[in-house]
Amino acid sequence: MYNVEEIRKDFPILSQKIYNKPLIYLDNAATTQKPQVMIDALVRYYSEYNSNVHRGVHHLSQIATDEFEQTRLTVQKFINAKHAHEVIYTSGTTDSVNLISTIIGKGALKAGDEIIVSGLEHHSNIVPWQFICDENDAILKVIPVLDNGMLDMESFHQLLSPKTKLVAVNHISNALGIINPIKEIIDAAHKMDAWVLIDGAQAIPHLTVDVQELDCDFYTFSAHKIYGPTGVGILYGKEDILNELPPYRGGGEMIREVTFEKTTYAGLPHKYEAGTPNIADMIAFNASLKYVINIGLENIAAWENDLLRYASNELSKIDGVTIYGDLEHKAGALSFNIEGIHPYDLGTIVDKLGIALRTGHHCAQPVMARFNIPGTIRASFAMYNTIEEIDHFIAAVKKAKMMLS
Ligand code: PMP
Repeated sequence: MYNVEEIRKDFPILSQKIYNKPLIYLDNAATTQKPQVMIDALVRYYSEYNSNVHRGVHHLSQIATDEFEQTRLTVQKFINAKHAHEVIYTSGTTDSVNLISTIIGKGALKAGDEIIVSGLEHHSNIVPWQFICDENDAILKVIPVLDNGMLDMESFHQLLSPKTKLVAVNHISNALGIINPIKEIIDAAHKMDAWVLIDGAQAIPHLTVDVQELDCDFYTFSAHKIYGPTGVGILYGKEDILNELPPYRGGGEMIREVTFEKTTYAGLPHKYEAGTPNIADMIAFNASLKYVINIGLENIAAWENDLLRYASNELSKIDGVTIYGDLEHKAGALSFNIEGIHPYDLGTIVDKLGIALRTGHHCAQPVMARFNIPGTIRASFAMYNTIEEIDHFIAAVKKAKMMLS
């Protein structure tokens, strides 16, 4: 039995009041709240075994290194990577995408090659590709978005060509909550010998991800979207591809031998992990993942799905509401507008009622342009949200609408 009240007790921040009202946190697509076990792991590292990793033979360094590497094993299992060294530590999704785009730009992209992104991408899965296309005289192509928010897959198949080097799409759109047909995208791209990068920032807390079954070449996510700390994230990459591509940043940890004549590089994963990493947060991330695994991602997903459907139903009963994106293929987030009301005005009133929503373009301006809107109001759900919170949210939206109409 899913016991949301017990789960809520594990998240200390949820018991506080905002403007004297109980906090209702519906901005989980921006970042999730943290369970006490993660906070404890962070404090334990700094108070008991703070030390650099992979460098010292001394006792504390051995404990730190061991804990730091444990996270890699948990992630490997969580996404079903074939090898632990295919799990590269980064500072987050943005960093992971920039890592891959930079090394492809340096080592694999030629003039005239094509990269395909979708019209549903977060800026962090657009701008890095623009950089390397500009630098290499390559061409960026965009999968259009249909009126129901789904990708236009017919156009996608037409965009693919032997010139396609890589396709970069998100698993779930942060702006609309749409789940994209990534398996179809991956299989079609592979037929053209193109690589596929999946931006899993929004999917990782809601969907079971099996990178071997998906057969994606790269998968990226941030720890903070799945109840982990900020400042750390993951790049999964297939071993043979990462071995082939050049290194990213130069520095300590990523070398085998340095001489002024010739420097050789470390093997995976260290080749892509130059410098002292964010040790504390990466260790604490393991506690978050274990916490999620213990509750069961499928149980969490089923609960969130009920919340999403209930919220969509209740919201669509309000006059003048437009919800963006087809509900059948959604997880986590609900994006909407109310006729005649600016999203920011509604968000501000609802905030005073203790409810945290996100308003604006959600770092996905091309999505807003596609629907010809300045932004949306986004409610996004996590394992600890309740039906009662949604009732308060709906009541608050109705109240704000009355005040603003
Ligand atoms: N892609 C998507 C789909 C996202 O939702 C986000 C975060 N909003 C990012 C990329 C960027 O993640 P981060 O800021 O943690 O690097």
